Parts: sequence; structure tokens; C-alpha cells
Amino acid sequence: MRNKFEKYRLLGWISLVLIVGFLFISIASFVVSRNAIRQSISQQALPLTGDNIYSEIQKDLLKPIFISSSMAHDTFVRDWLLDGERNEEQLVRYLKEVKTKYGAISSFLVSERSFKYYYADGTLKSVRPEEPRDIWYFRVRKMAEPYEINVDVDMANSDAVTIFINHKVMDYHGNFLAATGIGLTLDTMAHLIDSYQQRFHRNIYFVNPDGEIVLSGRSMAHLKGNIHNLPGLETVAIRVLASNRGEGQFEFQRGDETVMLNSRYLPELGWYLLVEQNVSEEMLPITRVLVINLAISSVITALVLLIAWIAIHRYQQRLELVAGTDSLTGLLNRQAFEFVFQQSIRDTERTQRALSVILADIDFFKQINDGYGHLTGDRVLKELAQLAKHAVRDSDVVVRWGGEEFLLLLKNCSLEKATEIATALLGAVEKHDFGLPEPSQKITISLGVAELVPGENHTAFFSRADQALYQSKANGRNRVTVSPRLPTTETMTT
Ligand code: GH3
Ligand code: MG
Ligand code: MG
Repeated sequence: MRNKFEKYRLLGWISLVLIVGFLFISIASFVVSRNAIRQSISQQALPLTGDNIYSEIQKDLLKPIFISSSMAHDTFVRDWLLDGERNEEQLVRYLKEVKTKYGAISSFLVSERSFKYYYADGTLKSVRPEEPRDIWYFRVRKMAEPYEINVDVDMANSDAVTIFINHKVMDYHGNFLAATGIGLTLDTMAHLIDSYQQRFHRNIYFVNPDGEIVLSGRSMAHLKGNIHNLPGLETVAIRVLASNRGEGQFEFQRGDETVMLNSRYLPELGWYLLVEQNVSEEMLPITRVLVINLAISSVITALVLLIAWIAIHRYQQRLELVAGTDSLTGLLNRQAFEFVFQQSIRDTERTQRALSVILADIDFFKQINDGYGHLTGDRVLKELAQLAKHAVRDSDVVVRWGGEEFLLLLKNCSLEKATEIATALLGAVEKHDFGLPEPSQKITISLGVAELVPGENHTAFFSRADQALYQSKANGRNRVTVSPRLPTTETMTT
């Protein structure tokens, strides 16, 4: 019982060490990888995407700004305006040429004198201060800077969202004459956004300072409205827009997904460029690795436990075997017999069956030792043990009772049957060739047989067998003496 407890305690410790060790290694490596991924997303991937998009936009805007500036400084344009806008066709042709030459979506000029809006196909309309769509013009004429970039719908192009470069045209004395410039579609930007979204699984969109989403890629079409009202985004919206004219890193939850967000202000457009990435998605591979690691660890733990259990079990069995057996003959020793005997007594009492013993002692064994040496004596003992084992059933027990004394415990065996077995053994020994140097030298044994009388004291029982054996010796050896159930003895010879 104690051994068993110790065994399971040892296995418990082994599993604890393995489980804690594996858990620690797996979780630590998961945390390290997760932090590295988060770090690389927030410190590198997202800012780099923002940088790339921003520099693409800057590159795209550089040329139109230059074109608009050239238009504003063109002496033909200024002279034509100062001349009173007389030949409209001349300007329209000029605008058309600029538009086709530079591949712009539109080219325009609004005169301060006439408020007329000229474009590549003629005169579009007259601008009016009260018309919301014309507000831009009244802003441009008052601004200090030479030009502005404005994102607006283009009336000359069926209201497509367009980036306009609005450049002031001044006369030779610095007075405001007109606003001119070209318009570009957002197509290039939209393509750029789409390609980034596809390549890196990142959401890219632009918001104005009020938080309205003004431009997003196709896959982001569902993200509409104001970031102040969008689930998850609303938690960081104020901070994003407060990171005025700078760059910021944010993190928020959208449903059960963790999203990292990089925001930067683009002064050219007056917009914020937002790049976001679903971190949970990036964590999937390492989560998978964690699960695989844990599964492998469990299998290894189970295997180690199994091997340890088998080893301990075998070792324990061996210990039990060594502790209970006689090393010379391999028979049970007297200590172990005590345990077996108690069990047999219980069985006998329960089943009401007979239980008998045979005690056997080698005759004149001292002479064999003295005559042929101890090693020969030992060999005789071993062979006799085998003969005794052969004489009984597998369920019976043969014990090395003393030096050259053996006890055969016969379960479910009457006195008559036990006497038969004892007599058979007596004959077998007498006939057996022990391979002594002197072949004529016979080895014989004396035996005593007794059957347990119900209720009999165990010491008395063995003592009866012992007395029967003594009788065999006293009566000339090489014989079986039966201790009768009645307190008389009878001796049999072969
Ligand atoms: P008896 O017929 O009266 O039994 O005569 P005996 O010579 O057999 O006398 P006894 O039983 O007193 O002698 C037992 C001898 O067995 C004494 C001892 O040296 C020897 N013996 C006991 N154990 C061993 C053993 O393990 N190996 C060997 N070789 N001899 C042993
Ligand atoms: Mg003897
Ligand atoms: Mg003896």
C-alpha cells in the first residue's frame, strides 16, 4: 500500500515537472513570438505602409502642382485675362492642350473679373459666393499661399471625386486675377490602396479632420461614415484626430479581433491616412504552433509516464520477487510463505476445502556436503526443489523451509491425496540421478504429511507435520509418515 502510494507520488512528480516545463516553454515562446509580431506590426509594418502610400501620394501630387504653377505663371494666361477675356476660344484651346498633354482629368480657370468658370470644353458656368460648390473659389482668392490642394467633386466630370490643385493667378503687380489648375482622379490612389490591402491584409483609408471616411479601398467599402461612430474605432477616434499633424499608434477591439492602427496626417490633403491590421489574424500561425507544441508535449508526457510506470512496476516486481524467493532454489522463502499461507487459510475457511502440508528433509545431507563439497550439496538442493515443484500442481506452493528442508503447501487437497503426492515424490527422489561422483550413492528424503483440522491452531498443525517427519527419520528414513486426523501416527514405507 505504502509502495503503491510512493509509486504514484513519484509518477505525480514526474508529470508535474514535465507539464510545468512544457507549459512554461510553450507559453514563453508563444508570448515572445506574439510580442515580436505586435512589435513588428506597430513599429515597422504599419508605419512603412503609411510611408509608402504617403510618398506615392506626394510623388503623384508633385507633377500636377508644377503644372498648375506653370499655368498660373503663363504670360499668355495673364495677358488674356488682362486683355478682358476677349477670345474665349483661345483660353479653351489652351486648357484643352494642358489637359491632354498632362493626362489630367480636368483643367480650369475661374476669372476674378467675370467669375466665369472656363474648362477644356468651354465655359461651364459662373461661380457665385452663395453656391456651396463654388466656396472653394472664394477661399482661394483670399488665401495667402499660392496654391491649395482640394478634394472635391468635379462638376465637369459627372461629379467624380477629384483632387484639385487650385493655383492663384496674379497680374504683374501682384493683384489677384484668377484661379487656375488641374484636377486628378483618385483612381491611382484607390489602386494603390487596393494593392496594399491585398498584399498585406491591411485596411487603408483616409479620414478628414472631422473623422469622416473620405476614401477607402474596395475591400473596405463597408467602412463608411465617421470613425467616431464605427464599432471599435470610436474608442480611439478622438485620440487619432488629436494626434494633430503627427503620427500615432493605436490599438482597439473590433468584435473579438484585436486591431492595430497607424495614423498620420497628410498636410497636402488635409486628411489622416489610417492603416490598420488585424493582429488576431497574424497570431493564427503562432497560436497553431502553440496548440501543436502542447499536443506534442502531452504525448511526450504520456509516453514518459508510461515508460516510467513500466520501469517502476518492473523494478518493484523484481524487488518483491527477490524479497520473497530463495536465491539458491528460486522457491518461496519462509517469510514470503507466511503471507501465502494466511491467504490459503482464508480460502480454505471460505470454501470449506481441505488443506494439507508435506514436510521433506534430505537424509544424511551432511554427508553429501562433507563427501562432495558444498557446491554439489547446493546442486542437490536445486534439483530437489525442481522435483518437488513437479510433484505438485501449479496452484500449490513449494517453500524452502530450512537448510535442506522443504514444505509443500497443497490447497484443496485431502490427507489421502497429500500422502499420494508425498509417496510419489519419495519415489521420484530415489530414482533421480543427482549426478553424484559416486553413482551408487542414492539420495533419499524423509517426509511428514498432515491435513489441517478445522479450527486447529497453525503452530500445532505444522508441529504435527514436523513430528511425522521426525517419525520417518526415527523409523529409518526414506519414508512417508502421515499425521492422522486423530491424534495417532501411522508410518508408511515404500
Ligand atoms: P538427517 O538425515 O538427520 O537429516 O541428517 P542430515 O545430515 O541431513 O542432518 P541435518 O538435517 O541436521 O543436516 C543439515 C545439513 O544441511 C547441515 C548443513 O550444513 C546443510 N545445509 C543447510 N543449508 C545448506 C545449503 O544451502 N547448502 C548446502 N550445501 N548445505 C546446506
Ligand atoms: Mg537432513
Ligand atoms: Mg535438516
